[in-house]
Amino acid sequence: MELKKTFAAATMLAGAMTALSFMSAGAAQAQGALVMYCAVQEEWCRAMTTAFERETGIKVSMTRKSSGEIYAQVKAESQNPRADIWWGGTGDPHMQAAEEGLTEAYKSPKMSELQDWAVRQWDQSKQRTVGIYSGALGFGYNTDQAKANNIGEPKCWADLLKAELKDEVQVADPNSSGTAYTLLATIIQIMGEDKGFEYLKALHKNVNQYTKSGAAPAKATALGETTVGITFLHDMVTMVVDKAPVKVVAPCEGTGYEIGSMSIIKGAKNLDSAKKFYDWALTADAQKLGAEAKSYQVPSNKNTPIPPQSPKLSDVKLINFDFAKYGSSDERKRLLSKWDNEVKNLPK
Ligand code: PLP
Repeated sequence: MELKKTFAAATMLAGAMTALSFMSAGAAQAQGALVMYCAVQEEWCRAMTTAFERETGIKVSMTRKSSGEIYAQVKAESQNPRADIWWGGTGDPHMQAAEEGLTEAYKSPKMSELQDWAVRQWDQSKQRTVGIYSGALGFGYNTDQAKANNIGEPKCWADLLKAELKDEVQVADPNSSGTAYTLLATIIQIMGEDKGFEYLKALHKNVNQYTKSGAAPAKATALGETTVGITFLHDMVTMVVDKAPVKVVAPCEGTGYEIGSMSIIKGAKNLDSAKKFYDWALTADAQKLGAEAKSYQVPSNKNTPIPPQSPKLSDVKLINFDFAKYGSSDERKRLLSKWDNEVKNLPK
């Protein structure tokens, strides 16, 4: 009798558990999925993914690539889009994708909380991309290496052409990297196109490697694999925070900056999830995750505290960067192909 009762209870429990597991599978399905292409540092991409999954129950499949690589992938997949949301990376390929109709217009209820520069990006792209952070370009150098090689203290873009720095400067390839495209556009805006290309050709003699990712030269500088790395200033700050012998330099001639951006992919299969992520990613709480993952950009929500480690943009001589021109499809294609033809393959 007792055995029978126990058996009956166990059967009921098993039935209840099966029902529960069906219910939770159904609930997970109802909560949905999101495919995300992420262009910031892996650590920050992962922190965003985990926090969003925890908050919403939406399962995120994330791929990390550099800005230009994501643009190329979104374009290649445009007939059958795989991704729903493109989060982060410099604004120029987001602007190009907007112009080419690869991304979707969207007005988030969070727009009123954003800095003017973030909203301007959204206006200029006909509501197809929005600013999520900003940061200035510059370079960093390894102080131990500089001392050992008697290189002095580089302070200006011009100093990076010195003969002592032969094979001692590292920067990314602007085709794959938004950071390096920002350098290309910055140098042209400071010097004019002809002189700017002369500068980039002279710099080529000192470049030891064009990396795929924009932040890779910061790591190489920290390790002393290169004396100088050209990156966003905040990427070099991450190395200083990790106690590397690195000095961060905002170049004396002035410098450009980025508006890191976010776009919803046209034809997104999980459009509701993409909009949920978009709204959430603009909140102050979500933006705080950047500093926690040691990414020190200036956040676009006015209520997100600016990390104390962030380079102060008011201390940097910023140029009046023309985001519409340098993010336009024709100009970006033209400049990248000119750089490939006139700089990348030059003999040293
Ligand atoms: N990581 C950080 C911290 C950045 O600020 C940016 C620029 O938006 C990127 C990555 C983009 O990297 P990449 O130059 O490889 O496109």
